[in-house]
Amino acid sequence: MHTIDPGFVPPHCPNPNCQHHRQLSPGWRFKRIGYYRRQLNPTRIQRFLCLHCRRSFSTQTFATSYWLKRPDILPQLLTKTTGCMANRQIARDLHVAPSTIDRQLSRLGRHCLLFHALHMHTAEPASRFAIDGFVYFEHSQYYPFHHHLAIEPDTDFMIYFTDSEVRRSGTMTKAQKRKRQRLEKIHGRPDPRAVFKDVRHLLEVVTGGQPRVTVLSDDHQAYPKALQTLPCESTHLVTSSKERRDAGNPLFPINLADLLIRHSSANHKRETIAWSKRRQRSAERLAVFLVWRNYMKGRREKERGSPTPAQARGMMEHRVSMQELLSRRLFVNRIGLPTRWVEYYWGHISTRVLPRQRRHELSYAM
Ligand SMILES: [Zn+2]
Repeated sequence: MHTIDPGFVPPHCPNPNCQHHRQLSPGWRFKRIGYYRRQLNPTRIQRFLCLHCRRSFSTQTFATSYWLKRPDILPQLLTKTTGCMANRQIARDLHVAPSTIDRQLSRLGRHCLLFHALHMHTAEPASRFAIDGFVYFEHSQYYPFHHHLAIEPDTDFMIYFTDSEVRRSGTMTKAQKRKRQRLEKIHGRPDPRAVFKDVRHLLEVVTGGQPRVTVLSDDHQAYPKALQTLPCESTHLVTSSKERRDAGNPLFPINLADLLIRHSSANHKRETIAWSKRRQRSAERLAVFLVWRNYMKGRREKERGSPTPAQARGMMEHRVSMQELLSRRLFVNRIGLPTRWVEYYWGHISTRVLPRQRRHELSYAM
């Protein structure tokens, strides 16, 4: 799976600092410089040299399995994570260390961020969409956060997501309130304007320069404020959060997405012990979910051959297979990501209670 054929011609230089990395300029020259052998199949790997920056690379540099000792894991991860397995269960199932699964799942998450962004560049923007925020936890129940989602109700297409840290609220015992106070003293409090800022960014990305949009949401107070600051006209259709959330509710499509996320991801089940230790990891898993939901899964579970959301909105003519998703490595410097997703890509979302967190700094890796 996802190996590159021997007649492969590199489309661009893989070195992000080379002028032939971003553009497909006709002047780019490279030469073949023999092969190297390795244990995995294919055992003979073609090597190349960029004649501009003198960087050498190989067919493997363009594979999603670049630098992986176990390239067989990546294609198995998507169905396992969206099939509700926690990282430790996956590790046991595949007979590898949990840290291998964590690392490869982050890579798959990054690939999915790029895959979706790439397809959004040429897609028709959504002029009518629903937004909502859903509460999840990182580290413990003292650290709730919201994932803000935007969905196109007519196609179930997930357009974009962000997240915000929020303060633990709701009913608490006296002991819980004391503990919250103690933790906030040590680790600080989330920015009280975080929800407003992150929803505003979400709206900016989703509206994408359109002159007018229609936005469906509940009566959260941050939404009208965020909409007012946008440089476009908007019709805001509000459904009270007290309305029954059944199929007749205008916000049903976005509730369905939340249900599916919770149903499909071990880290988002209520009362779970497998919640994400970090918001960063939750975003990576959500990116995997988004790609699976938009491009690989039919809209209707029970209808055979039901089109995917991407097919329903005319972005794709077919359902994307795992092989197609992983067929080529995507390069972050060639695909623009929205600012929040740049942070997800580089692992910049830190969890305030943890002292040191691994970031993704291998600039020549993916
Ligand atoms: Zn080069």
